[in-house]
Amino acid sequence: MTRPPVVLLVEDNERNLKLARDVLEYAGFAVVVATTGEEGVERARATLPDVILMDLQLPGIDGFAALDLIREHALTAHIPVVALTALAMRHDRERVLVSGFSGYLEKPISVREFAAQVRRHLPRDTDGSHA
Ligand code: MN
Repeated sequence: MTRPPVVLLVEDNERNLKLARDVLEYAGFAVVVATTGEEGVERARATLPDVILMDLQLPGIDGFAALDLIREHALTAHIPVVALTALAMRHDRERVLVSGFSGYLEKPISVREFAAQVRRHLPRDTDGSHA
C-alpha cells in the first residue's frame, strides 16, 4: 500500500499558494500549507512532510531563518527543503545554494513542470514510483 507524498508548502502570497497547491494536489500530492516562516517550522515538526517548498520572503522570519530552524531540529533535519525564488532574484538564488537548501524552483511556477520538479526532490522511498 502506498500513501501520497506529503509536501509542506510555505508561501505567503495567496495566488502563488493556491496555484501551487492546486497543481500538486492534482498530481497526487497531499499538501500541507503555511503562510509564515514560524508556521512553516511548526507544521514541519507536526506533520513531518516528505519535502518542503519554502518561499524566501515571508512575514516574520524569512525562508532562510525557517530553514535554519528546520535543520536544527532532529525530527526535521533530514527533510529536503526546496526554495521558491522569484525569477528576478538572482542574488537570492546564489544565497540559496550556499544556505543548505536542497535546491530551488523559480516562480512563477510552470504548471506543466512543477509536480515533476517537486517529485525529483522526494526521498527515494516516497516518490510513488514503486508500490
Ligand atoms: Mn513571499
